[in-house]
Parts: sequence; C-alpha cells; structure tokens
Amino acid sequence: MQYVGNVIRPPSEADSIILQVTVGCSYNKCTFCGAYKDVSFTIKDEAEIKQDLRFARQHCRNQKRVFLADGDVLILSQKRLVRLFQLVHEYLPWISRISLYGNARAIRGKSKDILLELKALGLDRIYMGLESGCDEILQRIEKGETAESMIAAGRKIRGVGIFLSVTALLGLGGIALSKRHAEKTAKVLTAMAPSQIAMLTLIPLKNTVLGQEIQAGKFLLPNPQEILAELSLLIRHLQNVRCQFHANHASSYLPIFGRLPKDQVDLLASIEMAKSGASPLVAEHRRAL
Ligand code: SF4
Repeated sequence: MQYVGNVIRPPSEADSIILQVTVGCSYNKCTFCGAYKDVSFTIKDEAEIKQDLRFARQHCRNQKRVFLADGDVLILSQKRLVRLFQLVHEYLPWISRISLYGNARAIRGKSKDILLELKALGLDRIYMGLESGCDEILQRIEKGETAESMIAAGRKIRGVGIFLSVTALLGLGGIALSKRHAEKTAKVLTAMAPSQIAMLTLIPLKNTVLGQEIQAGKFLLPNPQEILAELSLLIRHLQNVRCQFHANHASSYLPIFGRLPKDQVDLLASIEMAKSGASPLVAEHRRAL
C-alpha cells in the first residue's frame, strides 16, 4: 500500500485494510491536533487507489473490513464517495464493513438521503471527533463547531442507523475548565446517544498551537490525578447512555472500558482504585497517540 504522511486510524480498526483515499485533513485548524500539520489536503487519484485495491486483493484476503483514511473522507463529494465504495466492492467483494472519519462539518454537508445511500453501499461506521462539549473550549481549540452543531451532526448519523463512534479528549480544558469540560461533554454525549464513546487523553505536541501554549505556561495541563477526576466526573454525568465506553486508548493513564450503563459502577470503582494508588497508572513515557 502506498501511504503518504501519517496514516492514523481508530484503535478498533487495527485489523482493517487501511485504504488511504485522501491525504491530510481539509480543515486542519484544531489547535491540539498535529496529525496532518505537514501535509496539504489532497484527494488521491483513482489510479493510485486502484493500485492499492489490487494490492489488498492479493495480500489482504483475511481482512474483512476497510477503513478509509485520512482525516475526513466524508468531506468528499457524493459522486466520489459512491465511486469509491463501488470500487471497494468490485476489488474486495468479501468486505463486510466500511468505515471512515467524518467531522461535524462533513456530516452537515450530507443529507439524510445521501447518508442512506452510503449506508446501502456499505458505510457501516463513522468516527467523529467531538473533543469537548463545552463551547468555550471548542472555540479555544478552533474546532469550528458548537455543542449544538455537534449534537445535530451526531443525531443525524444515529438517525440513519449508522454506527457512530465519538471521540473526546480528556485534559482539553486544562486545569481551569476541567470540571466544565467533563460535565458539558457528558451532556453532549448523552444528547447524541452514540454507539461508542472513545476517550483519549491530551498529549501536547510541539507542532501544535496548544503544545506551544503549554510549553509557554499559558495553558496548565491537568496532572494524572486530575485527569482521573475528570474521567470519573464525565462517567457520572453520562445519563441514560447505552453504548460501548472506551478509555483504553494508548494515551490513557488508566486503560478501562465497558458497556454503559451496565458497567458504570465498575468503571467508577476502577478509577477510585487508581486514584488511591491501589492500581498503577500507565507511565508517562509509555503513553502515545
Ligand atoms: S482534529 Fe480532526 S478535524 Fe481537527 S485538524 Fe485534526 S484531523 Fe482535522
């Protein structure tokens, strides 16, 4: 496969064929995100995509799923997306699931009928970055969205029956907005009712505005104990949410996961044990994005 730049995929796509159809992110402004800072957004030629599909047809027969990279493939026109999905089925007829990253802006640009057409073509799962449910934080990180626009986008995906995985970022409010970040994020997640919640933990990157603010002492990053308190508060505020809950990303200080609401008490107990020192945290040097 011919990958350009950093190719990032969600942890649950570890066993998928990663087909890179765009390079970078068309938005690329979030102040915490260093994933695609060194590349301009481009859409790969069909010839290149076909070459990768031929490779996958030969070498990836045991992989049943395809993840379309990079940052926000859903931003492509419907014509391109339909062609892309048709190509995947033509070259890899055994594929049972296609998924991609879709930000709120891209989702807003797709009507319900368009999403249903993609679903019929095999779009099974969309990974959406909420990051925070707090408007003040969303504005500060230049996400270009509000809590309300995020809820509308999430509900739209759930409304057409596509699996929605939503990511939020612990630590993104700093020490000052930690409590508000947890409470507002839980509120937005509750309103979205996603199929899966994935909590990551902020790791400052030198090539980002936020990383530089942290280095300059302008943004105070919560310590591991404060991150655990934030996670605990968020879980306690998730009301009537029925979904998979993952806080076991490589950036996490305490890898935990479960189903909500069934495992809410156990998840909170695990956090309390870690806070008391009874169970170890992931060492700083072992954390990664
Ligand atoms: S967080 Fe997502 S939308 Fe924001 S710059 Fe990174 S890839 Fe693009």
